[in-house]
Amino acid sequence: MNDNRSVLHARPTAVLMLVAITCVHAAGAPQDSDAQPDGAATTTLTGTLHVVWGDPPAGSDLPPVKRYWITEKAGQTVELILDDEGLARLAGTVVSNGERVTATGPAANLSDGRFRADTVATSGSAAAAVGGVYGEVRYATVACRFADSTGTTPRPLSFFEDLMGVTGMNHYWQELSYDNISIDGATVVGWYDLPGDRSDYVYDDDGDGDLDAQLEQLAIDCVAAAEGDVYFPDYDGILLMFNQTLDCCAWGGGLDLTANGVTRGYRMGWFPPAAFNRQDFVGHEMGHSLGLPHSSGPYGATYDSYWDVMSSGGGCQYEDPEFGCIGVHTIAYHKDMLGWLTPSQRFDVSVSNPRTIRLQRLAVPATGTDYRMAKIPIGGSPTHFYTVETRLAAGYDSHLVGEAVIMHEVDTTRSSHALVVDPDGNGDPNDEGAQFLPGESFYDAVNQIVVHVERAIPFGFEVSISRQARNPAYVDPSNTGYEDGTAANPWNTLEEGLISVVPGATVYAAPENYPDARTIRKPLVLRRDGASGAVVLGQ
Ligand SMILES: [Zn+2]
Repeated sequence: MNDNRSVLHARPTAVLMLVAITCVHAAGAPQDSDAQPDGAATTTLTGTLHVVWGDPPAGSDLPPVKRYWITEKAGQTVELILDDEGLARLAGTVVSNGERVTATGPAANLSDGRFRADTVATSGSAAAAVGGVYGEVRYATVACRFADSTGTTPRPLSFFEDLMGVTGMNHYWQELSYDNISIDGATVVGWYDLPGDRSDYVYDDDGDGDLDAQLEQLAIDCVAAAEGDVYFPDYDGILLMFNQTLDCCAWGGGLDLTANGVTRGYRMGWFPPAAFNRQDFVGHEMGHSLGLPHSSGPYGATYDSYWDVMSSGGGCQYEDPEFGCIGVHTIAYHKDMLGWLTPSQRFDVSVSNPRTIRLQRLAVPATGTDYRMAKIPIGGSPTHFYTVETRLAAGYDSHLVGEAVIMHEVDTTRSSHALVVDPDGNGDPNDEGAQFLPGESFYDAVNQIVVHVERAIPFGFEVSISRQARNPAYVDPSNTGYEDGTAANPWNTLEEGLISVVPGATVYAAPENYPDARTIRKPLVLRRDGASGAVVLGQ
């Protein structure tokens, strides 16, 4: 610790906040302060919430971290300190794009720019929190050195210009977004010297024995150093590159900042050298800045899926000599979150309609007509569903760990919404257990969902899906009423029976001439229903 720390961390925002709250209390404004039964006063803050994700270096066993800031209308920003319950409540409903929230906590609470909240209520829906991201997204990249290591300049500015430029992150995000966004990363400035040493910005501020990067102060000081060279309000995002390790992590998300006299929200990233030396890490934090959460395998780890830049990045199957490990695509669910799949590119599986669809590769799709994702609702919940996508080697997916149909189970109320479906349960969401190939099926007996990969087609796979898995399934073309594949309400086409039947189970077909000239690729038993008559196929 050194003496100038108190100067550096006397945040003007926090001081203003204390004044504002005091005034409110003096005026007795009931909407901001009221007495609980035990007499304890509470304070309410209403404003824009920003989430920042912290990611430890690759290979570490550390878990991810999330931090929250709230900015009130007047522009004051404080960090929200939440207990586990508050965190759980926020997990699935808020992203970094600035949802409006109300936080309530003890009145005598604000200190050092932080507010301990007992409750946080969102005023919008989960869906409203995730906006589409389209068009040009302008990032300014600012490189800053700590005052005690101004002689350390890990990379020249030209490195960041290449990293962010037309063959770097701009190319990457254009491909991932199907040209829905382009990254203008041409503005790269630095290296600026920060007013404080590293220990002024990175220290254990909560006494838990771990270092905590003062993200807001780092941003304020690094941006202030560059204000003369960059007019920040012209930009959507700010990526801060530091010449030393921060705390546990690299960070990405959003934050309200005052720059060039204007206070507004920015897409943000904070990078130590270990992070900006890996393209997949930069892509991951930029993904957070665009509003994306993590995905992972179903085993409680966060960075174990090789199918998503928002998990492990891709498992570093390819390492570029200059930019390190190169990230793969993000999963179809995340692309849909950001509005990069049109309704016609997404197949929404209805209850009553077993269907075979063509699912083309997620990276660099080659046809305009085949689907890019199937979405299978689970039960009646709008927040719980499966997604099905095809992953083949192409573009930034060129070095995938495998080529197959990949499924995720999505629950939008979890911190990591999407978990890889891995039926073998062996702890590895990247091996053949999670890779569905022609002839292989996924069957959810509880929710009566069956998915079967029928065959490879150019640039993808043909996949059959039913939300009414049947064992056995019944078919009778004479049924003109309700149909669900049961004996009482048989399907009226053979195809529906073949799609809905559980692998290895029986399809009972009523004696009839069936026009279906269909190749059966699923293991199943096809039997005549009843004791007489003929089942004739292909007529
Ligand atoms: Zn992350």
